[in-house]
Amino acid sequence: MESCPLIDSHCHLDFPLFDGDRDAILQRCGELNIQHLILPGVSRFQWEHALLYSSKHRSLSAAVGLHPLFLEQHSEDDLSALDSILTTTPEIVAVGEIGLDYYPSEIDRDRQLTLFIEQLAIASRHQRPLLLHVRKAHQDVIELLRNHNHHRGIVHAFSGSLEQALQYIKEGFLIGVGGVATHLNAHKLHRTIREIPLESIALETDAPDLSPSWAKGERNSPEQLPAIAKTVADLRGETVQEIANQTTKNVGEIFRL
Ligand SMILES: [Zn+2]
Repeated sequence: MESCPLIDSHCHLDFPLFDGDRDAILQRCGELNIQHLILPGVSRFQWEHALLYSSKHRSLSAAVGLHPLFLEQHSEDDLSALDSILTTTPEIVAVGEIGLDYYPSEIDRDRQLTLFIEQLAIASRHQRPLLLHVRKAHQDVIELLRNHNHHRGIVHAFSGSLEQALQYIKEGFLIGVGGVATHLNAHKLHRTIREIPLESIALETDAPDLSPSWAKGERNSPEQLPAIAKTVADLRGETVQEIANQTTKNVGEIFRL
């Protein structure tokens, strides 16, 4: 079967966990027709790695952002560093991953909120799309996107309700679908995947996290992307080719690849 080009819209191949076999994975991604991979930024320190690898490999693009779960790694001047790196590096495709995560009870919500709002303003100023990380905070995020006039980006590893997915779509966002969709008991997510338009879906792996059901506990890899495309195709009753063509087009348009 002729395979169609795919894009992994969220993959942490810049993490040290891949230092031993990054090039080999990229080689196999090429063979699997995974034509592009987006490396989201999580901290100022990590951006440097993402930018280094994206400058070496044509199939990689980097995003920069301050992740809401790594609050203790961020310092005051990271926001001005974010602002200036976006000015000097036009090839950075997005601001992210940024967002709100209300899942861990010990997390400082006020600090997350301040950090997120500052980064929304920076993304507006530099006209970049957003790569969002949101857990248990969808209503707050949707309201902020409306208030700040943001209409381009991806809600990565979407975990909300169908209604919330439709609200994001109305604001112009894509719904990021990855390994969680392969879990048999992910009923709420399966319904969302069936009901939303294919024009609003982005595929992702979030490697090394969120492994598919058949690789639970293992390091996840972007090489799982074709199997995720197949899962989405089966759920929607469409062909893998249709899923690959449309999601690749969706992500290419959002990031202007
Ligand atoms: Zn991530």
